[in-house]
Amino acid sequence: MEDCIFCKIVRNEIPSQRIYEDDRYLVFLDISPVNVGHALLIPRQHYADVDSTPPEVLAHLAKIAQKIAPAIVGATGAEAYNITINNGAAAGQMVSHVHLHLIPRFEDDGFHAWHGRKPYGEGEMAATAEKIKEELDRN
Ligand code: AMP
Ligand code: ZN
Repeated sequence: MEDCIFCKIVRNEIPSQRIYEDDRYLVFLDISPVNVGHALLIPRQHYADVDSTPPEVLAHLAKIAQKIAPAIVGATGAEAYNITINNGAAAGQMVSHVHLHLIPRFEDDGFHAWHGRKPYGEGEMAATAEKIKEELDRN
């Protein structure tokens, strides 16, 4: 049995404010929201990250997100939403059970997810594209 906080939520061992569930997926409110209504969508099955999640599960997560996010927007009076996955510790993933953040957003709500963008140096953009394509060819 997984010793994982989201698995414990799935098993009802710790409380959560659930807003959607079916036999394979669960959506509950994030305990520390960017904005009120910020929710987390997870598969009941434990997968650590995107890389270890079967593509069909990712596809289902996208399908459910497309249904739930507008309901969160409707309920909160938000204007828009972010769907975000933090994949890996350096990307901000704190809980190693794959999850989508569904975040209702307002103009000027003060949340800046992508601060600190960097300009490419001379030739760096094309070289980077080349490297990534080579990596794709290797797999
Ligand atoms: P991440 O940084 O992408 O791994 O996101 C993990 C999220 O889980 C954070 O936004 C936390 O606020 C949220 N979280 C952690 N523990 C709980 C909990 N018991 N109930 C609801 N949300 C939680
Ligand atoms: Zn888990």
